[in-house]
Amino acid sequence: MPQLSNSLSELAARVAELEAEREMTLRLAQTDSLTGLVNRGAFTSGLCERLEAARDGASVALFVIDLDRFKHLNDSLGHHAGDLLLAELGRRLRDDAAPDELIARLGGDEFALVSSAADVARRAERLLNVLGQQQQIYGRTVAPGGSVGVAVFPQDAQDAADLQRFADMALYRAKSGGGRRWSRFDAELREESERRRTLEDELRRAIPAGEIEPWFQPIIDSMTGRMVGVEVLARWRHPEKGLLAPAAFVPMAEELGLIRAIDEAVFEAACARTAPWVAEGLIESVSCNVSPRDLMDPGFSRKLIGRLGRTALPATALTVEITETFLLQDLALSRRHIERLAARGVNVALDDFGTGYSNLRALMHLPIQTVKLDRSLIDDVGRDARVSKLVASLLHAARALGVRIVAEGVEDEGQALFLRSAGCERMQGYFFARPMPADQMEALLREENAPEPRLAVAS
Ligand code: C2E
Ligand code: CA
Ligand code: CA
Repeated sequence: MPQLSNSLSELAARVAELEAEREMTLRLAQTDSLTGLVNRGAFTSGLCERLEAARDGASVALFVIDLDRFKHLNDSLGHHAGDLLLAELGRRLRDDAAPDELIARLGGDEFALVSSAADVARRAERLLNVLGQQQQIYGRTVAPGGSVGVAVFPQDAQDAADLQRFADMALYRAKSGGGRRWSRFDAELREESERRRTLEDELRRAIPAGEIEPWFQPIIDSMTGRMVGVEVLARWRHPEKGLLAPAAFVPMAEELGLIRAIDEAVFEAACARTAPWVAEGLIESVSCNVSPRDLMDPGFSRKLIGRLGRTALPATALTVEITETFLLQDLALSRRHIERLAARGVNVALDDFGTGYSNLRALMHLPIQTVKLDRSLIDDVGRDARVSKLVASLLHAARALGVRIVAEGVEDEGQALFLRSAGCERMQGYFFARPMPADQMEALLREENAPEPRLAVAS
């Protein structure tokens, strides 16, 4: 039956073709297209397989690798140059690896190596060596250099998740030690990891327990010296550790995805406390901070307007402080949020101005009414002639644009006098008052800010 066997062999050929295609698709799905290395997804499953295979007592070392100055390189030579560098580095790392080692690009300038090498120190040194080799990019010689963090199964960690977490902690230590070095997870980092775990659990409980509370710092009118507004600053009243400032928990809350819950809790409590102050004419405005993470949520402004509507605070009395980093991350989304808020009468302030790129273009094209000059600029005002000139010209430009400037971190009279004479309308800082709890803020406002008595009717 020649016909049947013909179609049978056709079928077999087709099956083989399909299988090859499937394999190809699978390989592509597991490959990082820039470097040809294994990608993050395939790396994670590869790591788990190796740990499973090592249950008999062998050890597996995970090295996580991060370039030290990649962002700088990318910014100065351009993204294409950055890509070329990563591709070449991927090739060198692969050429240097033993056949049984797994090497992956996890994303950005982050790589990982899984190895059964007995001598972890030697292997790490070799990685550093490859990372530090020179490359020619567009005729320029660059030597990116990198840092390496190591954790070993089963000595340091008993599963893949911990192994990655611990290697990352070691990497972080290597980087903060100045880079171009490697570091292995150890007792010191284990203690830190346990402290962190506890603090994480405590933070999760702190929000529903009402331990996160709003504190307030007044914002002063430069001409009259009167407190015209307050900025809301979160504090964590920790049951054992006492009062914690945002630096001790906001970054962690952002990582854990808890920042939104914190911002909402602070916002609600702050609105409830300050609405009467506004109603009585003690202050005009209340400024709240929002995390850049919140702002990445396309529903952020709509939800905020909804929540604001359930409080007694008028929209025109609210200022939302956002940082410039966010503006630049997604200009289109920023614009949508800012316009939606402005349409409701909510004031939007650009926080920490002068620390980042200070994007004047964005300022001109967005309905931003207020800019907060960062403390780092104010520090040198009146002391460093160049900084003073810069601040004076920023104030001048702001006036021309119809933008109000609030100077932050005013700590002494010299700064206050300089800023006032340069035309800065608003100031905030320890020179006037430190952040304080609601009751104290209210008492101070009642004492110093009672609204002007109405003109007495002439008798
Ligand atoms: P920020 O928005 O720039 O807030 C101003 C910070 O400067 C506050 O620190 C304030 O206490 C401090 N400060 C004010 N005047 C002076 C001064 O004269 N000298 C000095 N050295 N410092 C001064 P704080 O309260 O520790 O807050 C730090 C940062 O945490 C804030 O910076 C803000 O970015 C963030 N943050 C605070 N509350 C919240 C919140 O509810 N949600 C979010 N997402 N972030 C918050
Ligand atoms: Ca702020
Ligand atoms: Ca600020």
